[in-house]
Amino acid sequence: QNVLITGGTGFIGKKLTKILLERGYSVSILTRNSKPNTEGVTYYIWDVSSQNIEEAAVLKADYIIHLAGENIAEQKWTAKRKAEIRESRTQSAQLIYNVLKKHNKRIEAFVSASGIGFYGAINGEGICTENTLPANDFIGTTCQEWEKSADLMAGLGIRTVKIRTGLVLGKDEGILKKLTPIFKRGLGSALGSGKQYMPWIHIQDLCMMYIEAIENEKMTGAYNATINDSTTNLTFSKELANSFGYSIWLPNVPAFLIRLAMGEMASIVLSGRRVSSDKVKSLGFRFQFKNLTKALKDCLK
Ligand code: NDP
Repeated sequence: QNVLITGGTGFIGKKLTKILLERGYSVSILTRNSKPNTEGVTYYIWDVSSQNIEEAAVLKADYIIHLAGENIAEQKWTAKRKAEIRESRTQSAQLIYNVLKKHNKRIEAFVSASGIGFYGAINGEGICTENTLPANDFIGTTCQEWEKSADLMAGLGIRTVKIRTGLVLGKDEGILKKLTPIFKRGLGSALGSGKQYMPWIHIQDLCMMYIEAIENEKMTGAYNATINDSTTNLTFSKELANSFGYSIWLPNVPAFLIRLAMGEMASIVLSGRRVSSDKVKSLGFRFQFKNLTKALKDCLK
């Protein structure tokens, strides 16, 4: 069976492709830049802003996993950048929808990435479940629109799943790629108060959740993808420093300095709340990496 991954060239997509191939699926990837096809993987080109797409990618698919989107943490959130972040996710889903509709094509499932930012960039002790109301800040509204664009497929009678993802931990990628050079030099420290929660998930577990989402017909709607172990920015920073053999000695980086450097985007690192993954566990899904020390050890080996 064929799985089409939009944005399959990124951090999550690369790992997911590898696991899908190992499990005997063929994989297609929608990308903006052409790449040579490799064993089991076919690349197709699209351009979301001009709504151009090689339709064969969609027509061949049994499942679609929608990961494409401009990186939220790469550039300051100007009005232009915010539109790019939003539209690269929503207009891309719309483009897929148009092809499915035009050809009356039905697939087994459409699985879209989303973020725990759905619940907003605020601090607090409450634990968010999939029933918690969305926030009205930039990331909250972006996640809502992103999920709404995924739900277009549900309107076609296609089983639709949305994976509200926490901070993904993986080797040399994502957040660890940013933090490792600093922590390796002994210069790690917590950010702001350090008390903000940091719900995380190991890349292996996240990929297995995507696979569960395509293979388990009972999965539909939104699912949180995080380990709810009360990790805060401080405990995370301490663990990461420990992984490199030292205890944090620097004071926390003051919130105002982070805001000065990052602007509104600082909310990603200065806020966070607890997020439950009981819903996916209730389906029998089991996380392999539940312990932060072990997850970090695996990512840094
Ligand atoms: P990456 O940034 O590594 O990869 C995203 C991919 O999307 C890129 O490889 C790129 O593919 C494609 N893309 C980027 N901009 C555009 C655009 N304008 N139009 C079409 N395609 C575009 O992201 P991750 O793999 O880390 O994440 C995948 C999804 O999961 C994202 O939507 C992300 O927001 C979400 N997520 C990730 C988290 C994390 O911690 N990593 C946490 C929460 C959610 P190409 O260049 O080949 O076109």
